[in-house]
Amino acid sequence: MAYSKLLTKSKYLIGLQCPKYLWTKYNEPDKIPDFDLATQFRFQQGQLVGDLAKRLYPQGIDIPKTAFMTNINQTKELLKQRNSLFEAGILTNNLYSRIDILNPAEDDSWDIIEVKSTTRVKKEHINDVAFQRYCLEKSGLKIKNCFLVHINNEYIKHGEIDPLSLFSIENISYEVEENINTIEENIANMFKTIDSKKCPDTPIGQQCDKPYQCPLKYICWSFLPTGSNVFNLYRGKTLAFDLLDMGILDIKDIPDDFILSEKQTIQLKSYKEQTPYVNKEALREFVSKLEYPLYFLDFETINPAIPIYDLSRPYEYIPFQYVLYVIREEGVKPDVYAYLAQGEEDPRIEVLKNLKKLLGLRGSIIAYNANFEINVLRKSSEVFTQYQDWFDEIESRFSDLLMPFRSFFYHHPSQQGSNSLKKVLPVLTKDSYKDMEIADGGEASIQYYTVTFNKDTDEKKRRDIYASLEKYCDLDTRGMVDILKRLQEEGGSYGRIYPDNHINRQQREC
Ligand code: SF4
Repeated sequence: MAYSKLLTKSKYLIGLQCPKYLWTKYNEPDKIPDFDLATQFRFQQGQLVGDLAKRLYPQGIDIPKTAFMTNINQTKELLKQRNSLFEAGILTNNLYSRIDILNPAEDDSWDIIEVKSTTRVKKEHINDVAFQRYCLEKSGLKIKNCFLVHINNEYIKHGEIDPLSLFSIENISYEVEENINTIEENIANMFKTIDSKKCPDTPIGQQCDKPYQCPLKYICWSFLPTGSNVFNLYRGKTLAFDLLDMGILDIKDIPDDFILSEKQTIQLKSYKEQTPYVNKEALREFVSKLEYPLYFLDFETINPAIPIYDLSRPYEYIPFQYVLYVIREEGVKPDVYAYLAQGEEDPRIEVLKNLKKLLGLRGSIIAYNANFEINVLRKSSEVFTQYQDWFDEIESRFSDLLMPFRSFFYHHPSQQGSNSLKKVLPVLTKDSYKDMEIADGGEASIQYYTVTFNKDTDEKKRRDIYASLEKYCDLDTRGMVDILKRLQEEGGSYGRIYPDNHINRQQREC
């Protein structure tokens, strides 16, 4: 059947996610916002991974992909030479696909090699490669095998990146074969959707976040009440869809006999009464276990797909920044220590060296979601083994400030079922992340990576980003001090973390 519009591989994948998203992509594309920073960064990392994977086939020919028809025509010509081809473009029956690597196989056939920056094969990769195979076969090529090249997360960098060790190659021919039977029908349905005058009335569902968050959520989910909708129930996404089926949108309308978990019940009660829930005894116990000096520690990290530093793995979290507040005795103003790596050197050794000096021999080390800080230090000390004994000694001193919130010892209705620092801090303190240039850890990581490793970044921009990072990490850490103080007050403890008017805001470089 001849179709009037072009269905590309990426749009086919959109169509598999949701017909409404597909229809909007073709008919009202202005409604789709630009990619956010995190998505752009994911694409950039994917591009770097794709470029490295080409080195697995040193004889391969790179077909420029900028000019659409030129790429397709060059592909046609180059197919005759039976070389490995990168970015081969195939256009057939209004279907278009570009193949990362097309490799000649036996008896005039070809292997499809798809490169992904993930560390394993995912369902969406099979759909992706099945569409490529369908297009190639429709254009008359014989396909022998389909492979997925993905990152080997056991790889450890030693000097120059070795693509043969960085990547794992999996034969996914069987999975693709199983999938391919559904393609023809999928394509026919998608073209019907695209050509329809009316946008499909697809209800919201699990597909809105799978395999990727849909950029149209800001429209489709806007009928839900802000902040108090059933999707704000603590760990209650599946439950929320059940409630939605029952016509319940707001958590205040959840019937009394509806079965909720203990934590969800606390959340609902606190919301209905518009009063924080406080388990004073549990809070007192949490605070009483802390030992002075109190060390409040927060890391910022990068975790690039392709390791940058020797002796690091793909996606390993590398600390490039910390802020440490130290309250040496009850009621005494905090000392502040800050570190931000500003070069391309591996920052781990400096972080370990500094913290070994600063964290002393006793006292609680407080972090929000402490397992993250613990794991970063553990992994770093496994590489720089001279710090392993030190890490073993300090590990038990960590105390997780997230715990009282995750355990619902304290829950404020404005937390809206979330225990993240970004929700808890503005609720319990006068601070907030509003108006911050950098306002979350993901953004901190991307901005740092970009200005530090991009040679073209101008010096002013780099300095501005570093200044924003210093403010951001300081707020996270100072926020912990203030949160603990508030928990102490809520629990009715007698001690005091420090007097309000004595906070030492001076930063000292370590
Ligand atoms: S938000 Fe959900 S329902 Fe709306 S277009 Fe996206 S996937 Fe479809």
